[in-house]
Amino acid sequence: MLHSLTSRIVAVGSIVSTSLVFLSGLLLSASHNMTASFEWNSRKQKITEVMSETLSDLREAQSEERGYLLTKDASFAENFDDLINAINSKEKLLEQLLKDNPVQYERSVALQAAVSQRVVTLKKLISLAHQGRFDEARTEVLSGRGRIDMVLLVQKVNEIQETEHELLLERLATLKTHAAWNKQLVIGGSMIIIFLVGGLLLIVTLGIRNPMRMILMAMSDFGNGDLKARVNGHMGCTEFDMLAHGYNTMANRLEHAVEAQEASDRKLVAANAELTHHSNVLKLRGQSLELLGEMAHRLQAARTEQELSTIVCAFVPRVIPGINGALYAHNNSRNLLLRIAHWGNVACGHDSLTPDSCWALRLGQSHSVSHQGSDIFCTHVEKDVTSYHCEPLLANGEVVGLFYLQGTVAEENRFLLSALIENIAAALVNQKLQKDLREQTIRDPLTGLYNRRYMEEMLGFEIARSRREDTTFGIIIGDIDHFKKVNDDFGHDAGDVVLCSAAAEIQSAFRSNDIVCRLGGEEFLIISAVDSLDTLVMHTERLRTALASLDLHHDGKKLRKITMSFGIALWHKNAFANGAAIIKAADEALYRAKSEGRDRIVVAT
Ligand code: GH3
Ligand code: MG
Ligand code: MG
Repeated sequence: MLHSLTSRIVAVGSIVSTSLVFLSGLLLSASHNMTASFEWNSRKQKITEVMSETLSDLREAQSEERGYLLTKDASFAENFDDLINAINSKEKLLEQLLKDNPVQYERSVALQAAVSQRVVTLKKLISLAHQGRFDEARTEVLSGRGRIDMVLLVQKVNEIQETEHELLLERLATLKTHAAWNKQLVIGGSMIIIFLVGGLLLIVTLGIRNPMRMILMAMSDFGNGDLKARVNGHMGCTEFDMLAHGYNTMANRLEHAVEAQEASDRKLVAANAELTHHSNVLKLRGQSLELLGEMAHRLQAARTEQELSTIVCAFVPRVIPGINGALYAHNNSRNLLLRIAHWGNVACGHDSLTPDSCWALRLGQSHSVSHQGSDIFCTHVEKDVTSYHCEPLLANGEVVGLFYLQGTVAEENRFLLSALIENIAAALVNQKLQKDLREQTIRDPLTGLYNRRYMEEMLGFEIARSRREDTTFGIIIGDIDHFKKVNDDFGHDAGDVVLCSAAAEIQSAFRSNDIVCRLGGEEFLIISAVDSLDTLVMHTERLRTALASLDLHHDGKKLRKITMSFGIALWHKNAFANGAAIIKAADEALYRAKSEGRDRIVVAT
């Protein structure tokens, strides 16, 4: 089987070569036959020529012998010997020419014998002539034996020539037959060779064309994007099998390379998308952090709770957009959380809530409900709310407030929420610290009442308002009677207890918007919004009575009963020039109460 293209081409080449050799052989054979025929022809001519010349020489010798005999002139036979020699040599040549054919050779021997016989006769006659025996010689000639010998000799020559002619004709006939055969063979052989070569060329062509078509189709499909395109099947040819295998291997690698490239591209696109997403997230975070920074900056500068509330309401909806919420802070007694700010929906959250109503406050960590029933619902949240987030505001482990959002905080906003809460908690603490600090500057540390400085400041405000709004207010100055004795009898600490008890009593005797302060020592001043002197006296009297009935103890000892003296003045812009004037008036009234026996109230006149 010819599996290899090379072997097929070699087979075609071999057939062509063999055919050419065969044809060359035929042509050589024909040429050889032709040459043999030419040789035969020339041989026949040579034989004819030799025999003709022999016969001619014999006749010439006979003629010279007759001339010599007739004329008795020896010069007529001057060439006789040469002619005889020539005849002898030609006879040897003839023998040479005919020795390959036994029959002809026999005839040539016979002819040679006849020629020799004739030559002997002629030599004998010449010899007789030389001896002068012309008559004997003539008698011999006239006997006619020489003519008979010649006739016989010519017959032998003709036999040989005829046989040679027949042989030549046979040769020519054979040659003709061979030539015809050769012609047939050449034509037939050529046809077969052409057929074989054509057939093999067809096989070779098909053997190239089909595999080439399959490979080209596979390559074209691959080029058009079909990465699975391969050369399938058995090619039936070693070279194309190897080519197909090589192509398939290359296509496999290319497919893997393309797949790897595509996977790499996909990863790159995904990475780029992720990068863009992260970039956008970072940009948004950057903007949000910038907002947070601005908010923190403002919160630090906030002096009042109102300012803090305004800042929170302005910034929180920008930092976490789309979610309503509220900010709660502890009240002073820390039993309630009061709503100090809210954004979005005005009705968001209650005005106040108890710490127990919020799970975030109870657990001390954030508490979220994404949908009804997913977790415990805080009781401070309205029933129609489906999702919310509570974040306790912690500072140094202590709850300072609550950050409430009505909705779900997205995962990416959690870090903002943490930062927001941290800032707001810090601001609340800061606010509280500022408040405490301010309280310290305006409050008397022993009794907790406002101090003289605050009183003077507030008196200034009240006077200004009274002038602006044409209102009145009262000034009450009270002094504990014989307080020195308390110190003296029970000690300074007991005196402090008395001071604190009296302060609490005074504070509770007036309304919350009245300003109760300790002027110093055991002296107190109240700026009361009450605009009626009678009412003022009534309140003060009630206080005086309450003080008198106080049971005071210190260190297990019962202290003496205390009393207070009061001086009252009612402000009116037309009555007093300034704050000092009305204080002086109230003080003078107190002085009179003292001098009139203490434990009483005197109204300034
Ligand atoms: P009067 O009835 O005239 O007002 O007599 P009084 O003793 O109350 O008045 P006085 O001015 O003579 O004495 C006031 C005393 O109050 C003198 C001082 O030692 C005492 N004192 C002032 N500040 C304090 C304080 O913060 N704590 C205590 N325990 N005593 C104080
Ligand atoms: Mg005093
Ligand atoms: Mg006193």
